Amino acid sequence: MKLQSIAVYCGARSGHDVVYEQEAYKLGQILADRSITLVYGGGNVGLMKQVADGCLANGGSVIGVIPKMLADLELAHPDIQQLYLTQSMQERKMMMAQLADGFIAMPGGFGTMEEMFEVLTLTQLNYHDKPVGLLNVQGYYDPLLTWIEQSHQRGFISTNHSTLLQSAHDAEELLSKLENTTFFSLKDELSKD
Ligand code: AMP
Repeated sequence: MKLQSIAVYCGARSGHDVVYEQEAYKLGQILADRSITLVYGGGNVGLMKQVADGCLANGGSVIGVIPKMLADLELAHPDIQQLYLTQSMQERKMMMAQLADGFIAMPGGFGTMEEMFEVLTLTQLNYHDKPVGLLNVQGYYDPLLTWIEQSHQRGFISTNHSTLLQSAHDAEELLSKLENTTFFSLKDELSKD
């Protein structure tokens, strides 16, 4: 599956190690190199700013979607080609999910997790067939991957769904995993281990 647009969820903060900003900027550059449109939260702070800046610096297309209430707080990015202002967080998430063919979560906090799990469960429930992946910079998401494996072992996530969330340390590798994601019918999964 050729991905034409990807939504990136990531921290409104930068984290304590400069590597997070570097990897976010690099992801933006790679998306631009591949002519994949970046869809993101529209902010001009933290890793959000880096991913947008990397994409713009390489001549890429960037669409931001930000609730009016947050536009000032997160300082909407002044240079992106398109910025949608929404009434609510719900509307923002729905719009980002509709605009993107796939999703990547970089390191982030509560907001990043909430957004990533929402689109992942929409994939699990077959509301859409869109791949979701973690860019696991410096093992940031290792505890989450351990939790998924444990949930699978304890019978709360089926074998097929336990690999639904892709992950890689490297953006190029992650993109190729996203392009080759296999989707499963929820009806089948409910009757399996
Ligand atoms: P964070 O990962 O907490 O730094 O937040 C990253 C992005 O998620 C920011 O654009 C926030 O506006 C957004 N965000 C924060 N809280 C929520 C929420 N409850 N639902 C959806 N997005 C959120």
